[in-house]
Amino acid sequence: MVIDLRSDTVTKPTKGMLDAMLNAQVGDDVYKEDPSVNALEKRLAEMFGMDQALFFPTGSMANQTALKLHTQPGEQVICDKYAHIYNYEGGGASFNSGISCKLLDGKRGMFTASQAKEAINPPDFYHSPLTTLIEVENTTNKGGGACWDFNELQKLRTVADIHNLGYHLDGARLWNALVAKNETPQQYGELFDTISVCLSKGLGCPMGSVLLGKGELMENAIRVRKILGGGMRQVGFAAAAGLYALDHHLNRLAEDHQKAQEIGEVLASRSKIKKVEPIETNIIIFELDDGVDEKEFLNHLESKGIKIIGMGSNKLRMVTHLDYTSAMHRHFLSLLKTI
Ligand SMILES: *Cc1c(COP(=O)(O)O)cnc(C)c1O
Repeated sequence: MVIDLRSDTVTKPTKGMLDAMLNAQVGDDVYKEDPSVNALEKRLAEMFGMDQALFFPTGSMANQTALKLHTQPGEQVICDKYAHIYNYEGGGASFNSGISCKLLDGKRGMFTASQAKEAINPPDFYHSPLTTLIEVENTTNKGGGACWDFNELQKLRTVADIHNLGYHLDGARLWNALVAKNETPQQYGELFDTISVCLSKGLGCPMGSVLLGKGELMENAIRVRKILGGGMRQVGFAAAAGLYALDHHLNRLAEDHQKAQEIGEVLASRSKIKKVEPIETNIIIFELDDGVDEKEFLNHLESKGIKIIGMGSNKLRMVTHLDYTSAMHRHFLSLLKTI
C-alpha cells in the first residue's frame, strides 16, 4: 500500500467524477461557448455573491491574473513572507506584472491590519514604490493550513478602503477554512475585490481554479488570461469535475481535518518529533528532534510506502485528502506509533 501525503493535489478523479466528466456538454470556451464552464462560473459567482467568475487551468494563473488586474509595473503588493504568490509562483509577480512584494513578518502566514497599515508607502513619497494591493491567503499553505480570524480580514478591508488599495484573497484552500470555521462564501465575496479558489486541492479535481471578482475589475481578466496562455477550448470536461466536486466533495473536507488532527496527536506523542504545529485543517507541519536526520526519517517512511515532503528549515509536511482512505489512516497511525 502506498500512502501519499505529500499534498492534497495527488488525488485522482473518483468514478462519479469521471462519469460527470465523460457526460459533460462542451464547446469552445475561448468563444465562451462551453456550457459546463459557463455553468461552473455562474454557480461560483452566485455562491460568493461576486459579479464575475472566470475558469483557469491553475491557481497560480488565477493569482497572477489578479495581481495584474490590481497593479501597474513598479507598484507594490503587501503580503506575508510565507505567501504563495511570493514563494511558489516562480517569481511571477515580477515576471508578469513588474511589481515587488512588501513582505510582512506574520504568524503562520497571517499578519495584522496594523502591520499592513505600517507597510503602506506614503503615496506622495515618490522615492518608494506605490502600494496598491493587499494580498492574503486562507488557509495558509506554508503556514500549515492555518485559518484567518475573520475580524482581522474585516479590519484589513478598512485599511484597504482608507488607502485606496485593492484586496485579493488567495483562496486555494478557502474551502477548508469555510468548513473548519463554519463560514460562508458570501462573507468572503462581500469582503474582497478578487478571490481565487482551487478545484484541484481538497475538492479532488484533476485541474482547475476560478477567479472571482467585482465587475469593472474583472473586465480585463479574460484578456490577461489569454496573454498568459490560459484560454482553453473544450475545457468543460474539467469544469464538469468542478461542478461534481462542489456537490460531493465539499462537506467531506471535515473528514480530512479530523484525520489530520489524529495524525498530529500521534506525532506529538513520539520522542523523535520535537514539535507539531497547531492543526486547524488538513495540513500537518512538524519538526524532527535535533538528533534525527531528516533524510533518514523520510527514507524510512518511504520504505514503508509513506510519502511526505520536507519544507526546508527542518520542517516536514503531510496533507490529508480524498484519496487518503480510512484504511490507510488506521494503517498509518499504527505505523507512526512504532517509529
Ligand atoms: C496550490 C496553491 C495555489 C495554486 O497552485 P497551482 O498549482 O498553480 O494550482 C495558490 N495558492 C496556494 C496557497 C496554494 O496552496
